[in-house]
Amino acid sequence: MNYNIPKNLLTTNNAKTVKGEKKGYTTYIMYLAPYTQNSKGINLCSHASKGCAKACLFGSGAARFPKVQQGKINKTEYFLANRELFLKQLDFEISMIVAKHENQGTKFAIRLNGTSDITFEKFKIRDGKNIFELHPTAQFYDYTKNHFRFKKVQPSNYHLTFSLSEDNKEISFDLLSKGVNVAMVFGVKKVEELPTSYNGYEVINGDESDLRFLDGKNVIVGLKYKLMTGKGTKGSNKDNVDNNDFIINVSEIDEVVKAA
Ligand code: SF4
Repeated sequence: MNYNIPKNLLTTNNAKTVKGEKKGYTTYIMYLAPYTQNSKGINLCSHASKGCAKACLFGSGAARFPKVQQGKINKTEYFLANRELFLKQLDFEISMIVAKHENQGTKFAIRLNGTSDITFEKFKIRDGKNIFELHPTAQFYDYTKNHFRFKKVQPSNYHLTFSLSEDNKEISFDLLSKGVNVAMVFGVKKVEELPTSYNGYEVINGDESDLRFLDGKNVIVGLKYKLMTGKGTKGSNKDNVDNNDFIINVSEIDEVVKAA
């Protein structure tokens, strides 16, 4: 497996950062190649469903461009080939980010699993500590489909939101009943079309920003489906929605309370 050591593992050049900046945060995100998209075929998303892997691998927005995909794959090959060095680099980058923002007096957040679902809490990097424990003043957050992560107490500076798939609805509502926030993709074109509640839980507009650690407790994080368009996209937008069973079809659900 060939790879180059990238200059940065964490980047700020994405739409989510722009949204975060409106709330005064710089968002650093690490994008690896999802699922089994690496030369070893190792699954970096242990609980991915067919639907989410399909939507994710295909890419949406800027991520569908080959250069962007190649950058993700390169970082993934690096992670798989030399995890120790990879984690050391990550640790160093975060130290620099923390120092920079402390000097500036500005706010920031870090998302390690931009397009992966790795249990970073299990990797001890130095002094027997994981990345979250090494940087206690940094705010980390992620989405995950791995419900086992909620069975353990997570570091206090790491916010996790569970994510609905076509095969984990029961688990999603069980976690909601236990106070966890769950992200759900609704088949709507505009955020204004998101319901205000679903199955008795408040639905918030998750597209307003990606800063999940600012969300209220025990809510559904409503996301509109990022339609796949552009070169290389097969099928119409409608087909893309219909072919992904993890997307909640608002028109077929009685419990949905439409926003006024
Ligand atoms: S688990 Fe998340 S990152 Fe992995 S394939 Fe599914 S949607 Fe993509």
